[in-house]
Amino acid sequence: MSQLNEEAIRAVVAEVLSTLQAAPAGGAKAAPATPSIRTSSGRHGVFEDAGSAAKAAQGGFEQLKKQGFAGRAKVIEIVKQMCADNADRWGKIEFEETKIGRLDHKIAKLHGIKNVLGTEFLTPFGMSGDAGITMEECAPWGVVGSITPVTHSVPTMSGNIVNMVAAGNAVVFNPHPGGAACAAIAVHEFNQAIKAATGIENLICTVEKPSLDSFNELCAAEEVNLLCITGGPAVVDAAMKTGKRAICAGPGNPPVVVDDCHALDFDKVAKDIILGGGFDNNLLCIGEKQIIAAGDSYRKTLDALKRNGAVLLNRNQLEKIKQEVFDIKDGGGGCSHAVLNRAYVGADAAKLAAIAGLKVDPKVEMLIAETEEDDIFVEEEQMMPLLPIVRAGCFDDAIRIAKDSEHNYKHSAMVHTMNVARMTKMGQAMDTTLFVKNGPCVAGLGMGGEGYISFSIATTTGEGITTPKTFTRFRRCALVDQLNIIG
Ligand code: NAD
Repeated sequence: MSQLNEEAIRAVVAEVLSTLQAAPAGGAKAAPATPSIRTSSGRHGVFEDAGSAAKAAQGGFEQLKKQGFAGRAKVIEIVKQMCADNADRWGKIEFEETKIGRLDHKIAKLHGIKNVLGTEFLTPFGMSGDAGITMEECAPWGVVGSITPVTHSVPTMSGNIVNMVAAGNAVVFNPHPGGAACAAIAVHEFNQAIKAATGIENLICTVEKPSLDSFNELCAAEEVNLLCITGGPAVVDAAMKTGKRAICAGPGNPPVVVDDCHALDFDKVAKDIILGGGFDNNLLCIGEKQIIAAGDSYRKTLDALKRNGAVLLNRNQLEKIKQEVFDIKDGGGGCSHAVLNRAYVGADAAKLAAIAGLKVDPKVEMLIAETEEDDIFVEEEQMMPLLPIVRAGCFDDAIRIAKDSEHNYKHSAMVHTMNVARMTKMGQAMDTTLFVKNGPCVAGLGMGGEGYISFSIATTTGEGITTPKTFTRFRRCALVDQLNIIG
C-alpha cells in the first residue's frame, strides 16, 4: 500500500473516531470531546460495560416488538444498504485497525451482506384437521449476546444483525479487542440510521473496550437469553461453560483433496485453491488450509499452482518461516504444542516469504510448500497464505490424511474429482458442515456456488450456516374445534 493510501486511511479513522467522540446525535450542540466513543448512558449502542448494554438492548427489543415484521424488515434493509454504501470506508477502517488480511477482500465481505437471509426465511408451519388448527411459529429469544472474531469484525457483526433482527431479537456484541473500534463505528452508525427511520434505540449494542470481564458480564446478564459465538476453541469452551444456550461457530482446519483423475482441469483446480485459500490472506474459517493430492495429481497440482502464480518454497525456506510463525511449547511428558505467532496471521505472502529471505512480488497471493502429513502447517489452523501440499498414495489415503488434519471440527472440506462415487465417499467420511466439490471454499457460501451467506457457521453445536431460524424459539399454538373450511 502506498504512503498516500496509508495516510488517507488513518485520516478516515481519526475523523470518524473524533466525530463519535465529539458530536451528539441529531446535529445538536457538540459535547466536549471525551477519550472514549460513548458516554456512560450509552450513545447509539456503544457502551462502556456489557451490563448496561444488555439492559439497553432489552429496551431495543421491546421497541422492535411493537413494530412487528415490518419493523424488522426495515432494519434489515438499512443494515444491508449501509454495508453496501460504506463497504469501502468501513473496509478501510477495519483493515487499518486489525492490520490483517487484504483490503479488497474486507470490502468484498461487506458487499456480501446483501446475501444474508432476512425475514423471508421465517415461514410458519401450519397443521389443519378434524381436531382444529395448529400453528408453529418462530419466536424471538429477546437479547442475543454475540462474540465476534478479529478476522471479520464488521462483516460477522452485520451478518449476525440481519439474521438476529429478522428473528425479532436485539443483540449485544463483545467483539474481539483487536477489531472493537471498527465494530463500534458500525454500531454507532447503524443505530443512528435505525433511530432516524424507525425511532428504535439501542437495538444493536456493543461494548466499546471488550475484555474477558465484559465477556463474563455479558454471558451472566439476565437479559441475555442466547449466545452466538464465532471464534476459536478457547471462546467456544468458555461459552459452553456458562450454562446459557450457545450457538457456537467454532474453529476449522479445512483440507482440500485433489483426486488422481485424468478428466480434471488442473489449472481450474489451482485457481480455485488460490482463490479460496488466498481470500483475505487465508483468514476465512472455511478457507483451504492444506492440499492433499492423490497419486499422479500431486505433480500436476503443484505445477498448475506454480503456473497460476503460487510460489513454491524449498524445505529450508519453509523451516525458517516455521520457526518464526509458530512457537513450539513443551507440554511436558514428551508432548509439545504449537502456538501461532499472531503477528503473521493474515499476513501477505510477501511478508511471510521475506522471513526466509525470499523476495516475492507483492501481488503473489499464495505460497506453497511440499510437506509430510504430520507437518505443523498441516496440523494447525495457520490462517496464512502458505499452503502445505501433501502427497497421498491413493484417494482413500488422501481421505484419511484429510480427516486427520480436520481434527473432527466438522467444519469444512473441499474435493476436486470428476468421480461422483469418490465425492460421496469423501463427503460421508469427512462429515463436515460444509463440503464443496469442484469449486473454491467460498462457493459453499454462495460466492460462485448456489446458496446464501453467513459469517457464523455453527459447526461445534451443529446448527450449520446460521439463518434467522437459528436465532428463534419454536412455539406452537393449537386452536381446538372443527375449524377448517373444507368441512
Ligand atoms: P479468537 O478465538 O481469538 O477470538 C474470537 C472471539 O473470542 C474474540 O471476540 C475474542 O475476544 C474472544 N475470546 C477468545 N478467547 C476467549 C476466552 N477464553 N473467553 C472469552 N472470550 C474469548 O479467534 P479470532 O482469531 O478472532 O478468529 C479466528 C478463529 O475463529 C479461527 O479459529 C476461526 O476458524 C474461527 N472462526 C470461525 C467461524 C465460523 O463460522 N465457524 C467464523 C470465523 C472465524
